[in-house]
Amino acid sequence: MSTRHFTEPAKKHLGQHFLHDRRIIDMIVQAVDPKPGDRLVEIGPGQGAITFPLLDRHGELTVIEFDRDLIFPLTDAARAHGTLEVIHRDVLTVDFSAVARSGAGEGQIRLVGNLPYNLSSPILFHALEHAAAIRDMVFMLQKEVVDRMAAGPGSKVYGRLGVMLQAYCHVTPLFDVPPAAFKPPPKVDSAVVRLVPRAPETIDVADPAMFTAVVRDAFGQRRKTLRNALSKLCDAAAIEAVGVRPDARAEQIEVADFVRLANSLAAAPARTDHA
Ligand code: SAM
Repeated sequence: MSTRHFTEPAKKHLGQHFLHDRRIIDMIVQAVDPKPGDRLVEIGPGQGAITFPLLDRHGELTVIEFDRDLIFPLTDAARAHGTLEVIHRDVLTVDFSAVARSGAGEGQIRLVGNLPYNLSSPILFHALEHAAAIRDMVFMLQKEVVDRMAAGPGSKVYGRLGVMLQAYCHVTPLFDVPPAAFKPPPKVDSAVVRLVPRAPETIDVADPAMFTAVVRDAFGQRRKTLRNALSKLCDAAAIEAVGVRPDARAEQIEVADFVRLANSLAAAPARTDHA
C-alpha cells in the first residue's frame, strides 16, 4: 500500500491517527476474516491502512469517511485493490439499517474501523440503534474504553457503557495496540474489540427507554445506593421485588439484574410523582 496519494497532514480534530504497523493491520484483517458474500463497511478509512488489505482480500468494501480531503486520494488508490463505495458523511448521520437494506444477500452488514477516539461512545450507541442490521463489529478504540465496555460487576471501570453494550451485544476484547503503531502516535494505549449483537429474540430488554433510564440513574452517582440513585424511578420495594438489594451500589449489580428491574418497572403502572 502506498501513501504517496495522501499529502494532507493528519487532522487532530477528526481523531486522525493512521495505522502503519503491518502486523497489527494483518491482525485486524484476520479478526474480520471476511467470507464471500459479507457486506463489509469501514468507518473512517483515513489513508486506507485497513481498507486496502481488506479490499485485497475481499474485493469490495463500503467506507464512511467525513474528511473531504481524503476522499479523492482514497478512491484513486483503491482502484488497484478492488471496488470501493465511499459514503462521504459524518458516520453519526449514516443510517446503517438503510445501508444494510441497500445491498444484496442476507441484509446485515459487518462494521470495522479504527475509530476516531473522540467519537467512540457516540458511534457505539449509534450502532446499537441499528443492532439488528449489524452482524458484528471489529473496532479499534482507546484501551480504557475497551476495558469499560467489557467490565463486569466489581470492576472499578464497570459502568453505564458496559451495561448498555452487554445487554445488546457480546463484547470480546481481542488484543492491545501500542501508540507506536500509529502516525502520529496517540497519547493512550489502544485495543481491538469485537462486538456481536445478540439475536433480537434473545435480547431481554422489554423497554429500551426504561432500561436506559435505570442504567443512567443507577450509575449517575456511583457512591449512592440503588435505593437513593433510583429514587426518581422507583422505591426500595420495587428493587427488592426483582431480587436486588436496595442498599447495593450499581457497580455490584449484574447486567441481567438491571434488565429485570427495568422490565419490571416498565410493566408496572406509571408513577405520577416523578417525571
Ligand atoms: N482507518 C485509518 C487508519 O487506521 O489508519 C484511519 C483511522 S483514524 C483513527 C479515524 C478516521 O475517522 C479518520 O480517517 C477520520 O477522518 C475519520 N473520521 C473522523 N470523524 C468522522 C466522522 N464523524 N464520520 C466519519 N469518519 C470520521
